[in-house]
Amino acid sequence: MFIEKESLGILHEAIRRLEQGFQELPEFSHVVDTDALSKILSEVAKKMQDNYPYPHPLYIGQMMKPPHPIARLAYTLALWINPNNHALDGGRASSVMEKEAVAELARMFGWETHLGHLCSGGTMANLEATWVAGSLRPGKKVIASQHAHYTHERICGVLGLPFESVPCDSKARMDLTALKALLRKGDVGTVVVTIGTTASGSIDPLPEILKLQAQYEFRIHADAAYGGYFILVDNLSPEALSTFQHIKEVDSIVIDPHKHGLQPYGCGCVLFKDPTVGRYYKHNSPYTYFSSDELHLGEISLECSRPGAAAVALWATQQLLPYVSGGKFASDLSKSRKAAITFFEMLKNDSRFITPLAPELDIVVWAPKAKNAREISRLSKAIFEAAAAENLHLAMANLPRSLFIESEEEIQWDQDDVTCLRSCLMKPEHLDWIGHIWQVLNRAAYTVLNK
Ligand SMILES: *Cc1c(COP(=O)(O)O)cnc(C)c1O
Repeated sequence: MFIEKESLGILHEAIRRLEQGFQELPEFSHVVDTDALSKILSEVAKKMQDNYPYPHPLYIGQMMKPPHPIARLAYTLALWINPNNHALDGGRASSVMEKEAVAELARMFGWETHLGHLCSGGTMANLEATWVAGSLRPGKKVIASQHAHYTHERICGVLGLPFESVPCDSKARMDLTALKALLRKGDVGTVVVTIGTTASGSIDPLPEILKLQAQYEFRIHADAAYGGYFILVDNLSPEALSTFQHIKEVDSIVIDPHKHGLQPYGCGCVLFKDPTVGRYYKHNSPYTYFSSDELHLGEISLECSRPGAAAVALWATQQLLPYVSGGKFASDLSKSRKAAITFFEMLKNDSRFITPLAPELDIVVWAPKAKNAREISRLSKAIFEAAAAENLHLAMANLPRSLFIESEEEIQWDQDDVTCLRSCLMKPEHLDWIGHIWQVLNRAAYTVLNK
């Protein structure tokens, strides 16, 4: 694998350009001991070799997508200033860029007005959305599906809000009958709708949940940390498409630019449809907010110090790859989805495997056939290891029995869930590599299953 290095020349040029903006200051510069730095940096490089090869197309395991070179460069360039987007005092330019980048995300979902900001990731973004939801519906329950990210229950614990989990149907989506039963009790304040679950990329049925909202009057928070960007693709299933067409009707949305938005880690985003929820954030700081009458980002976010560099990287990436359907960003994402559909079809047509769920996004889950759940789990782990030995890196997920009731397989359920193989086909290159990926998987499966 080669690591791209050509772009480093542009970084050098850009740093000179940045420097020109501070020329009227008295001369001052830092001296660095390059020999000492070089020695340590080389040691760091050696240590960093101990990683899975995330940028390579043969890595199809966890949700790991390499940042775009423009994001890497813009982030690094910004570090020579190291702005803090807590307030305009700490980062004027990067605060403006954050507001523009966040507005771009809101527009992608169909919101011309919004309140929102970047934060460290999906967990923090969901915490903020739930905190606002809890403030608007005091004492009422927050509910999320059994396949929602585990963070929701924990966040409710942190916020002291009652939480209940809603069972899922055989497609890993929130079960509507179960949801109605909970709503009838009258104590639900917020429904978390997951648009792309972490395990399988499944999508809760938002259009039907919106209809229930008219009757039961609850808040809807969309956790689209993983799936949000798929609003741009042209190859969704009709059900997924209709959920994305209705997403602008929800009250708040979380999306992680550090998952599918080509950003380095440390870039999540929370968006509220109603900008007046900013009143819950309002506070005074004895140290900051002097440099402008405009609302500082620190006045509408829970975290104080935040990396301006993350905003700069996101803004730069959006300049290069705008969020428009049919554009390069969208077509690369469609390729990931196409890779998942292709991979799923190959697995489905192979009698050695069980494929409980057709992919809604670009995540595929499957398992080797065997007589009982324990044996399937054992074989999944063995294939995972045999593939890794040939440099094909998969992931695993424990899936409940309920997802297998529609597949015709006769499985003896000697345990309640089963370990399956899981792949996130997040890179557009996965589509070109699917044949190669299949060959390696095929060999690994052969070795394990013919023992
Ligand atoms: C990843 C993810 C989260 C958590 O986000 P982090 O950025 O890892 O903190 C929450 N919800 C969903 C659906 C996710 O996929």
